[in-house]
Amino acid sequence: MFADLRMGAGEPGGGPPPATGLFDACFDQWAMGMVTRGFAPVAWGHSWTVQGVVIEPAFASRVQQMADQHRANLQLGHAHNLLEAERFEDAAKIFEGLGMWKEAGEARRHAKRNVVTQVQVDVNGLIDQVRRGGLTTTYACPACHSPIQIGGNTDVRSLTHCQYCGSVIQSTDLVDFLTRVVGYR
Ligand SMILES: [Zn+2]
Repeated sequence: MFADLRMGAGEPGGGPPPATGLFDACFDQWAMGMVTRGFAPVAWGHSWTVQGVVIEPAFASRVQQMADQHRANLQLGHAHNLLEAERFEDAAKIFEGLGMWKEAGEARRHAKRNVVTQVQVDVNGLIDQVRRGGLTTTYACPACHSPIQIGGNTDVRSLTHCQYCGSVIQSTDLVDFLTRVVGYR
């Protein structure tokens, strides 16, 4: 087959090229074997070689395309593994590199949802600790500085907004505050 590659490239006296369909399938199979083993075309004079086999530029670009496609597939597989491992930002960067902007956005949105859920769990857990400790504390609204009472009976849902001025209370700020109250930091 390797001899066919050289003759098919149109050297004088090389004889008629083999039937194209058969040749293409054969070439692609050989090239794919090279590509999946990590080899790509290397410039060699006016031609190219893949692992010592000389090929014409037209075929070299085809092997290069296959190599690029193969690399993209590997990266895509890796990105999906990263999503499984919940490494959303790492996955998003790979999607970006592949020009897959929509997938990159989805990965980042997923990361954000996880953070919000985590903070909500933290607030609930901290209120629980306040309850068990029989504590009562006062959080000053960051906007109007009104005193917001927080005790064991406080409904977490009432802490999303200031009851005096209606400002949104950031859960992350609340977590920081309550963590200090229950004496972690
Ligand atoms: Zn307020």
